Amino acid sequence: MARIPASFIDDLLTRTDIVEVIQARVPLKRAGREWTACCPFHDERTPSFTVSPVKQFYHCFGCGVHGSAIGFLMEYDRLEFVDAVEELARRTGLTVPYEGGATRHEDRSDDYSLLDNATRHFQAQLQLHERARAYLEQRGVGAETIERFRLGYAPPGWDQLKERLGGNARPRQQLLLRHGLLIENDAGRSYDRFRDRLMFPILDRRGRPIAFGGRVLSGDDGPKYMNSPETPLFHKGRELFGLHQARQAGTRLPRLIVVEGYMDVIALHQHGCTQVVATLGTATTREQAELLFRNAGDVYFCFDGDRAGRQAAWRAVEAVLPRMTDGRQAWFVFLPEGEDPDSLVMREGLAGFEAHLAAAMPLSTFFFEQIGRDVDISNIDGRARLAEQARPLLAQLPDGVFRDLMLEELTRLTGSSRRPPVPGLSQPGTDVAPGQPGWQRQRRPDVRRSLIRHGIALLMQKPGLAADYPPPYPFTALAEPGAVLLAELMQHCHQRPELNTAAVLEHFSERSEARALSTLAISELPGDEEIWALEFSDVVTRLIQRTDDQQLAELTDKANQDELSAPEKALLRELHQRKSRR
Ligand SMILES: [Zn+2]
Repeated sequence: MARIPASFIDDLLTRTDIVEVIQARVPLKRAGREWTACCPFHDERTPSFTVSPVKQFYHCFGCGVHGSAIGFLMEYDRLEFVDAVEELARRTGLTVPYEGGATRHEDRSDDYSLLDNATRHFQAQLQLHERARAYLEQRGVGAETIERFRLGYAPPGWDQLKERLGGNARPRQQLLLRHGLLIENDAGRSYDRFRDRLMFPILDRRGRPIAFGGRVLSGDDGPKYMNSPETPLFHKGRELFGLHQARQAGTRLPRLIVVEGYMDVIALHQHGCTQVVATLGTATTREQAELLFRNAGDVYFCFDGDRAGRQAAWRAVEAVLPRMTDGRQAWFVFLPEGEDPDSLVMREGLAGFEAHLAAAMPLSTFFFEQIGRDVDISNIDGRARLAEQARPLLAQLPDGVFRDLMLEELTRLTGSSRRPPVPGLSQPGTDVAPGQPGWQRQRRPDVRRSLIRHGIALLMQKPGLAADYPPPYPFTALAEPGAVLLAELMQHCHQRPELNTAAVLEHFSERSEARALSTLAISELPGDEEIWALEFSDVVTRLIQRTDDQQLAELTDKANQDELSAPEKALLRELHQRKSRR
């Protein structure tokens, strides 16, 4: 993939207003110099999510998420880095330059417009085909829902879409093949993948069609559902059908309901329940689990009550376990055998469906019920087996109250109290990055930071402090951790004193020190800019003195062994003089 030059990211982040970007998605309230809200990434009642217009940085004291405007878009809109940059550039009216001259935007716009044109084609065909419209009508799907989901119809025939969008142009046909809209046979002849099917466009987080699901109109016409294959834009394990529409219907989702079929999503929407998504013909993946919880604190997995439904539910359990941080809840709903949400809501109305949700089983109940199914816990062997099966799964739970409760329950059931190892638990006294277990406990400001740490913290508050300090920085000779990093930061901020905190962090985001830097950026240093400038000058002076002292000691050692060269002798004299002038 083409790279975006770092200098462009700097520019972008100095021109972007993170408050505006976040405000458009999460209502912010002013609180002194900062803005606050209830965190969109974890469930809470009192706001601990803060946005700093000065640092151009957001941070949640509850769950530890933090980052720049780019990071926010990546987390909140679930965009890839490049897409987040494109989105911000569009807002600020900048064009993203790509190294090597290629612009990814141009690369991909052909793809997106092709898929959009295909969607329009299917939408238009729906209007022309009575049979397809009648199907939707009979299922109670109204015009507004058809429009919101951009539902369409792929008519019978082998080259309707091919003729319409591909024509005779080889490159257009290649594009159609790339997105799975055409299939090529062994003889090299290509034809439409979707024929005589109701078409469900799958939209990305920005509402652009990236793939399709197609459903047969009558039962005897091949597989009931058919999806686009994996393409450069479409990875089925990472997408959720209906998420875009659910998010459009409400800014903050209290819950999301996961169903199995596209028609289930459509039917529930039609009945006024918009908080519903479907996986794309696969079991729930871990990426989808994360996506679900990013959008809602409570997630309801809805399955058919038969054996296959229970198996699918267990795969959902395996996907969500590693994502169950405190504040998140997973529920399992089993509908009567042979029912799906579509048929249920048709017969019993939304109230009937809601009644099933109200009776949902919490994850903990379903977990122990399922794992204890074929085990007889009245004897020691059975209890041991239960513990053996449960432990590796429970070990995947993130540290927190839920994990503790699940382990307690296991102990209660089996009488065994051996705890599985805690993943990611750090040693006391080490630096713990925000968002990691143990971080909250360490949040109090460290008053006795080292000189270098203090210098870095000051620069992270106000990168412009480095404006008066051009390189070289002799203190890199100090055998102290962080000295080289401080010098690098100073040089970077000296060259670009207009950068804000977020831009500096983004610049160093790929580095192993990135976490430590954001921890320092989050900390609020007392005082104001004038005081910081004095403190920073003091840090630099003292570091240089320390470097002098180190060199003085080394040269004195050498002098004692009579090994000094002439320049070294001169340097030693100068160091003595500088020391006496302090
Ligand atoms: Zn949070």
